[in-house]
Parts: sequence; structure tokens; C-alpha cells
Amino acid sequence: MAKTSQSVIIVGAGIAGLSTSFHLADKGVGKILLLDKGRVGDGSSSRSGAINTMMMATEGASRARGITFDIFERFDKILENYDFHQVGCLNLLDSRQFERARRLHPMHRRAGARFLVLRRREIEERFPDLRIGEDEYGVLDLRGGYSEPDRYLPALSAKVREMGVELREGVTIEEFLIEGGRVTGVRTRESGTLRADSVVCTVNAWANSLMAQAGQPLPVRNFVHERWVTMPLEHPPRLPATNDDARGVYYRPTEDDRVLLGTGAHEAVQIERPGPDFRLTELVPDPRSLPFIQEAVRGRLPLIRGVDIDYHRVGLVSYALDFLPNIGPVDAVPGLYLAVTFNSGGFGYHPVAGFLLAEYMVDGQTSIDASEFSPDRFLDFDTAGYLATTVTHGQMIRDHEARTALPVRKRH
Ligand SMILES: Cc1cc2nc3c(=O)[nH]c(=O)nc-3n(C[C@H](O)[C@H](O)[C@H](O)COP(=O)(O)OP(=O)(O)OC[C@H]3O[C@@H](n4cnc5c(N)ncnc54)[C@H](O)[C@@H]3O)c2cc1C
Repeated sequence: MAKTSQSVIIVGAGIAGLSTSFHLADKGVGKILLLDKGRVGDGSSSRSGAINTMMMATEGASRARGITFDIFERFDKILENYDFHQVGCLNLLDSRQFERARRLHPMHRRAGARFLVLRRREIEERFPDLRIGEDEYGVLDLRGGYSEPDRYLPALSAKVREMGVELREGVTIEEFLIEGGRVTGVRTRESGTLRADSVVCTVNAWANSLMAQAGQPLPVRNFVHERWVTMPLEHPPRLPATNDDARGVYYRPTEDDRVLLGTGAHEAVQIERPGPDFRLTELVPDPRSLPFIQEAVRGRLPLIRGVDIDYHRVGLVSYALDFLPNIGPVDAVPGLYLAVTFNSGGFGYHPVAGFLLAEYMVDGQTSIDASEFSPDRFLDFDTAGYLATTVTHGQMIRDHEARTALPVRKRH
């Protein structure tokens, strides 16, 4: 691939920043500087459950997630010490949920998803550690699965370094440098002013601390989210990655024979606009989370009956008003690009986010219609007014469903 002379600064070395670096370097961009105020993966990336499906609420999002799977399948081959565990991603639904979900199946097939609708006996035969009710349905996304963030982050960091990306840790960006109406670099606390032709913002929950300063706040809210991991089991769990909507929980096996569990079913604590000095280590798990999960999986996962929880990880998930990511250029500030607000699905979105940004920046256009992710879709919206009000997560979901008649799929 021919080198281009463009220079790019990427702010935030989580999975979104790493993915953007990879795809820019893959397209021949020679000068890429990836910066983080902490260490690589210090944000939510190292805390992720890292479960993925491509069966999303819209066709655009489902197609985008299909590209994510292409990339994970490629990374499985080219990254040292990384495996994409393509064990399938099972969505468990009660009969009422299934009636709604199946209306999306023709769209999912158009978007290229390969999936099976399964009943109790078929599910228990495939995954003997699951117990399913007679009135429940499973939709198995055959390309779905999970990654282990603790192996993926070092593997992808090593790869981008090998491709020539300069990765600097401990550099806090205080603001974007805007001159003559366009972004020309960043002002940092530790390294002064750094200049580049373009700047990419991949700071997840910290987005508005930078975007508001640039006069471009986003209508987004951040919520605390935690996941739990059991002690090791006697045999590898015979489970797929599972979004168990029927019980309001998700779970998956781990590489070291444990079960990872989480929930988005309770009203999550909101953290308003974390500043650059905010660290996720300040967060504690919601005390309602573990008891809820344990009750929800009683009977569902007999293999973890009586097994203790070994550890947890807590992070922030960032939701835009319409529950879609923001990926693309910011028209009002030429040279500035975003890849943020991935909901609780950033592990599923970050590969395609980096891929699309590299297309925008090198080719000037994307190979799929990515307009539903454009940050400019909020141009006519009163973002300042929205951010000045108090809106809970539950209210966000109800408002969105009332506006669009689309169910919010809290999909990983
Ligand atoms: C408990 C939990 C479970 C999850 N489970 C799943 C799942 O199963 N499947 C799924 O798809 N998604 C899941 N997610 C969501 C997913 O993990 C996140 O969406 C994703 O990791 C976000 O990655 P990111 O690179 O955008 O942000 P982050 O990893 O948060 O990285 C942002 C980086 O920006 C840096 N930064 C911030 N401000 C500045 C600044 N001013 N200057 C310099 N650097 C800065 C931070 O230090 C941080 O490293 C989960 C999230 C959590 C918390």
C-alpha cells in the first residue's frame, strides 16, 4: 500500500483508538500518533465483556457489525496471541420478545447475518450447560462470539506499533487546537502543542469534556456498567456468548474456564461529563447488580451453582440520544473525526468504526452507507438544552422507543 503524507493524531488508546490506528496504517497513512492520558486500555476497553453479535436494530448497524466480524476473523489470523472465539452469540427470548424480534429477521438476512432459530431441546443439545424454559426461544448468530480484552489489547497494540504507529501513554489532551476554522492539532498537559492534518477523538465517556470545549457537545450520557467473573470451573463451560434478554442478563465462557456475567437490567448510575482527570478506578459496582444476576441465572446455569465470584470490573458505557454510535467527520470543524458512543456494544463496533474512519480520511468516502452514524445528525437538535436536563437511562429508552417505534436492543 502506497504511503500517504497525511499526519493524524488519535486521542484515546482504547480499542477504538487502536482500531483506527490499525486501519489508517493499513491504508498507508505514514504518520500516526496515538495518545492516551493513562495506559493503553485504561478505559472501558479492559473492562469489557467483549461479546459480539451482528443482529442489531437497524440494517445499517447490522451491516456494519458484519464488517466487524470480517475484521475479527482477519485478526484471528494476523494478530499474535489473539483468538476470536466464534462460539456463536445466542439471544434468549421469551415468547413476547421473540414475536417482536422475529420481525427484524428479514432485515438481518438482507444485512448478511447467518442465524438459526432454536427451541429448548436444540439449545440444550448444542449447549449442555444451559437450561431453557418451554416457552423460550433462542436465536443463534452463527458468526458471533467473544474476545478476551486482556489478550486482545496487547496483541493489537503490538501490531499497530509494528506497523509504525507511535503510541504515547501519559499524555492528557486538554483541548483541540482550532485555527482558521479547522483542527490543526491538540494542546496537551505534558507535551505542549502537537500538530497534525487531522485529529480523531476516541475517548468514549470523556467525549464531551473535549467536544464541548470545541463548541460541539454531543447529546450523550454515560452510565456505570460492571461485569463479574466466577472462580474457575472443573470443565470448560459448554455455553455460547449469550444475550439472555428473557432474564435481563448476559454471560459467556472465558478462556480460563470461568463464566463472565453482567446485566443492564437495573437503572444504572449516571456520571455526568467526566473531566480529563476522572479515572474509572473511582467507580464501584452497583450493589444491586450481582444479586440480580445471581437470581436471574438460578436454574439457567446450574454449572455455577455454589461457585463463588472471583473478581469484577467496572467501567462506563456511553449512549447517544438515538442509541447509535457517532462515527465520522464533524462538518463544523474540518479535520476533526469521531468514533464514540458505542453504548454497551463498543467491542462490537470498534473494528468497523476504525475501518470507516480510515475510509473517510484516506478515500473521502465509505464503502457502506454510514450516514446513520454521522455526528452531524444532531445539528438541528437542542443539545445544550438536552444536556441541561436530567434523563435516566430508562427514560432514554422509553423516549427512543416512543420516537422511533424501534425497540432498543441492548445488544453487545
Ligand atoms: C463492564 C463492561 C462490559 C462491557 N461488555 C461489552 C460486551 O460484552 N460487548 C461489547 O461490544 N461491548 C461491551 N462493553 C462496551 C465496550 O467495552 C466499550 O464500548 C468500549 O471498550 C469502548 O472503547 P473505546 O476505545 O471507545 O473507549 P475506552 O476504552 O474507554 O478508551 C477511551 C480512552 O480515552 C482516554 N482518554 C480520555 N480522555 C482523554 C484525554 N483528555 N486525553 C488523553 N486520553 C484520554 C482514556 O484514558 C481511555 O483509555 C462493555 C463495557 C463495560 C464497562
